Amino acid sequence: MPDDPAFDVVIAGGGMVGASLAVALAALPLRVLVVEARPPTDAAQPSYDDRATAVSESSRRILEGIGCWARLADRAAPIRAVHVSERGAFGATRLRAADHDLESFGYVLENRVIGQALWEGIEAAGDLAAWAPATVVGLEQGEGQIDVLIDRGDAAPATVSAKLLVAADGAGSPVRTMAGIAHQVRDYGQSAVIANVTPAVDPAGTAFERFTPSGPLAVLPLTERRATIVWTLSPEHAAAQAEQSDAGFLAALQAAFGYRLGVFRKVGRRARYPLSLVQSQAWHAGRVVLVGNAAHGIHPVAGQGFNLGLRDVAVLAELVARGGDPGASELLEEYAEWREEDRARTVRDTDGLVQLFTSDFAPLRAGRRLGLVGLDLLPAARAAVARRGMGLGGRLPRLALGRPLAP
Ligand SMILES: Cc1cc2nc3c(=O)[nH]c(=O)nc-3n(C[C@H](O)[C@H](O)[C@H](O)COP(=O)(O)OP(=O)(O)OC[C@H]3O[C@@H](n4cnc5c(N)ncnc54)[C@H](O)[C@@H]3O)c2cc1C
Repeated sequence: MPDDPAFDVVIAGGGMVGASLAVALAALPLRVLVVEARPPTDAAQPSYDDRATAVSESSRRILEGIGCWARLADRAAPIRAVHVSERGAFGATRLRAADHDLESFGYVLENRVIGQALWEGIEAAGDLAAWAPATVVGLEQGEGQIDVLIDRGDAAPATVSAKLLVAADGAGSPVRTMAGIAHQVRDYGQSAVIANVTPAVDPAGTAFERFTPSGPLAVLPLTERRATIVWTLSPEHAAAQAEQSDAGFLAALQAAFGYRLGVFRKVGRRARYPLSLVQSQAWHAGRVVLVGNAAHGIHPVAGQGFNLGLRDVAVLAELVARGGDPGASELLEEYAEWREEDRARTVRDTDGLVQLFTSDFAPLRAGRRLGLVGLDLLPAARAAVARRGMGLGGRLPRLALGRPLAP
């Protein structure tokens, strides 16, 4: 008989998804270790950088259920309306939360703020072990346990044993590779430029999605009368926009977006992300399971990547909360089956939107105009789009329903 493993669960990666899982599991009588390659408050931390994230209603409930929303609420800008338009086209669609008896469709939060709240949650949970900076560099699958090799910057890497190793180490997931799980990558041939801007007119709860000939442009409300933009462009355009002067960038943004928010006055630091669709071919292998971008890195056009990853967290935590071996193959198979439907639907919807709005193919252009006008006229279609965007479709885990993790 092997010794009882030192940990029930080791989480590789303490980015937005891994840290959320760590905080969720802290509520259970389990020995949990989270291993994060960067100091969480480091300016170069890749998960908690200058981006902002649109958090859906189901994600808000999950963050509330794991005790983190109270730390975020003051810094969250509600999305009370969504305005979708196409540059040079007639159609525009407006979705209002109030029409669906909702206060908001979701909230926009700066990634740094999310990171701070999650890591405060990790620190507040006394029983949770957190090693950062430390990197998972190897693994060995055994009968009733998995050995995880961790580089802590010391002379010799440490080996810890666990019942389950969770790969929450992002789209490039080294742990996914170590576990022998294949993945597919499809390069969109596009990059996203992100920045926070100050417009003359307060966005006041309206999010704009604008489709321009050079690519989709999202302008989302932030606190303090600011807005955050995600602008999808060709890699060459993106490099030029990220590197040019503030004044030049603001002029280009103004030309693409128009004057719905008046003049854009100020822009913060810009960053650029090459975009691809990454999908793992399996959700688990032996005692390794994937969550977040390690399982699915998607296009940010619909702002669904973190929301999808948080639903992975809520489902995995719920299954683990039932008790028993957290690395048991039946549990991991149930997780895979449950998550596959949501992933497939979210990837399909996001991918469809990318194809539809980046195409110059005339019938598609005509179709999307009709689509925008049609959506504006059809309450049922609007409601369906709103519900899906809020992460409230399909089979939901308890946390996303606003219930505690365990019955
Ligand atoms: C421009 C842009 C805008 C976006 N906007 C939205 C949005 O509005 N809404 C939304 O829902 N999603 C959005 N997303 C998607 C969202 O940012 C990601 O889905 C989310 O960050 C994924 O988090 P993650 O923790 O899975 O991975 P990551 O953020 O990549 O974190 C992985 C972590 O693992 C660590 N790590 C890596 N290797 C190791 C190792 N071997 N050992 C230990 N640690 C390791 C890294 O340091 C990192 O902290 C956007 C993405 C982009 C690019």
